[in-house]
Amino acid sequence: MKPDLFQAPDYYNLDDLLTEEHKMVRDAAREWVKRDVSPIIEEAAQDAKFPKSIIKGLAEIGAFGPYIPEEYGGAGLDQIAYGLIMQEIERGDSGVRSTASVQSSLVMYPIYKYGSEEQRKKYLPKLASGEFMGCFGLTEPDHGSNPSGMVTNFKDKGDHYLLNGAKLWISNSPFADIAVVWAKNEEGRIHGLIVERGMEGFSTPETHNKWSLRASATGELIFDNVKIPKENLLPNKSGLGAPLGCLDSARFGIAWGAIGAAMDCYDTALRYSKERVQFGKPIASFQLQQKKLAEMITEITKAQLLAWRLGVLRNEGKATSAQISMAKRNNVDMALKVAREARQVLGAMGITGDYSIMRHMMNLESVITYEGTHDIHLLITGMDITGIPAFN
Ligand SMILES: Cc1cc2nc3c(=O)[nH]c(=O)nc-3n(C[C@H](O)[C@H](O)[C@H](O)COP(=O)(O)OP(=O)(O)OC[C@H]3O[C@@H](n4cnc5c(N)ncnc54)[C@H](O)[C@@H]3O)c2cc1C
Repeated sequence: MKPDLFQAPDYYNLDDLLTEEHKMVRDAAREWVKRDVSPIIEEAAQDAKFPKSIIKGLAEIGAFGPYIPEEYGGAGLDQIAYGLIMQEIERGDSGVRSTASVQSSLVMYPIYKYGSEEQRKKYLPKLASGEFMGCFGLTEPDHGSNPSGMVTNFKDKGDHYLLNGAKLWISNSPFADIAVVWAKNEEGRIHGLIVERGMEGFSTPETHNKWSLRASATGELIFDNVKIPKENLLPNKSGLGAPLGCLDSARFGIAWGAIGAAMDCYDTALRYSKERVQFGKPIASFQLQQKKLAEMITEITKAQLLAWRLGVLRNEGKATSAQISMAKRNNVDMALKVAREARQVLGAMGITGDYSIMRHMMNLESVITYEGTHDIHLLITGMDITGIPAFN
């Protein structure tokens, strides 16, 4: 891969809206990505291997639990700082950002929000430091967009619960030390349970043959009469709203992260277009290429403003789930379109691993599907504005 010459676009001087702390956190993440992610990520993606060497660095830049209070090992930052960290990590690779999102919003967040004080103290500091890695099991082979239909279940056996079922498409599952698993009790109510690697009957086979998020490990969670200690149930929230609350937090991070991938594609295409000469001129001098670049920066700028405003609303505790859906849907779609256009600017070079664009494009095909598909987020907006659910 070529040296990382990334220059972040900021067409509307959005830096003026950030605090000194935001900029410090963002710049530290940016530097780390340049130093520790860019040099290794192409090979990791080509080899379809999660680069475990980056776990320590992710912890050091505060990517594991950015907004979890410091007393539990988190970074104690606000939502905009969290978003900026996700943006910078995904500028490097969506798979690396996925690992950080899962750890922060889908594992640490539910333990912090719905867990007991003992659970917080036991797991959060180790998750924040990367000593423990976690995964989040909601999706099942027959229940993706409709998680309420899940069949994974647990029965009360007096001194323990007995867990049975299977989860599919679980990021980090092949190496995770713990899994936050959503399952129904005997009354059909959804609860979160912390399942630990090594528990008898629990296995995590890896899913191979992905053309997307190749530097992120994805797998199954299989529960065959797994005995779960009663103290591993998350006591403070149940029902579908519990996993959906985690998804709100992760989707917010994705809305920012996707901007990072788009920024990287735009920056690469802009630089290439000024250097590549055809018909005796840099291709940047042709109107058709300028149209592509001008539209890319316009869409990136609009997405930046959307994410920033959503961050303010989140900091004030006012952001709705539907607002988060709109930003996730818009920004990921925007990033995918930017990646496709940017790839064309590079001609044949755009399909190689010498540049990051094709990897971003393939990654974004997962990002537009997970954490609620593009269609489902549109239906959420539709329901929000009409008051009529059109899911079934
Ligand atoms: C790389 C990767 C990592 C993932 N990581 C995780 C993870 O860590 N944890 C986890 O729990 N899950 C994870 N997922 C799963 C992801 O969240 C699901 O794939 C997603 O929710 C969609 O479910 P599905 O794939 O079963 O598609 P389906 O629900 O079968 O949908 C198929 C198509 O039908 C459309 N559709 C469905 N319902 C409707 C409707 N009512 N109206 C109109 N259209 C509809 C969808 O939009 C989609 O286009 C991951 C997925 C991928 C690809």
